[in-house]
Amino acid sequence: MKIHHLSCGSMCPYGGKLVSGEAGSAEIVCHVLLIETSDSLVLVDTGIGTDDVAHPHRRLGPPFAAAFRPKAVLEETALHRVRALGFDPADVHHIACTHLDLDHAGGLPDFPAADVHVFEREQAAALKPSMRDRPRYPKSHFAHGPRWAPHGPGGDRWFGFESIRLLPGVDPEILLIPLPGHSRGHCAVAVNDASAGQWLLHCGDAYFNRAEIATPPSCPPFLRAFQNAVAADNRARKNNQGRLRELSRDHGDEVRLFCAHDPVELAHSQARAAASA
Ligand SMILES: [Zn+2]
Repeated sequence: MKIHHLSCGSMCPYGGKLVSGEAGSAEIVCHVLLIETSDSLVLVDTGIGTDDVAHPHRRLGPPFAAAFRPKAVLEETALHRVRALGFDPADVHHIACTHLDLDHAGGLPDFPAADVHVFEREQAAALKPSMRDRPRYPKSHFAHGPRWAPHGPGGDRWFGFESIRLLPGVDPEILLIPLPGHSRGHCAVAVNDASAGQWLLHCGDAYFNRAEIATPPSCPPFLRAFQNAVAADNRARKNNQGRLRELSRDHGDEVRLFCAHDPVELAHSQARAAASA
């Protein structure tokens, strides 16, 4: 069992320090996991897909492409990353989605035979979007007819959070942890990394910068404004971010948290994985 931390669609938004919190140009990544299970490969999120790279303005929409300036490099797509690791993309049998925003679901068409595990509230929001939500869920990402595997609420408690086990009997244990707010059915994905004696928690877009789950928290101003503006339920988003802060503070030795877009967290995760290999 091995877990790979991949960058599947980096972006260079305007704003520098107002986005990154540090001097220099800002970079945002799409942190994707590739998990080798006992019988197949599992992706957690898919980043930006090959069709998005070919036509970023048409597929992702001019406002997103202009504001976030995706690098649009084919080698960064999940499809190419999987091949570069020596795997057959057809062996990706499952995709666990934190949510279905365009920068997370863009790679779904590149893995048409995989089961797409998603919280049912997120699937409903994406397939029948409100006027406001239409830009975040481009129809083209779902036009191939994904093999949906929607999951309802329920399941055992996990560190005080609701949890849904995705693949019973498969090692490692993979859980959806509902954390609505950023989008209607947004979830984190927990993976039991037994070799490290630790859980990994891919927090998706529940936060954008590692300083947000530090105690006390802070956030670069552009990122704060962006999150407030796009949240489906901003009160729930802030409440769930607070719960993640408590989880990190109280159980940081048992659960390692990272979000989808922080390049420092991605580099840290890749360094740890390389050191344990
Ligand atoms: Zn995102």
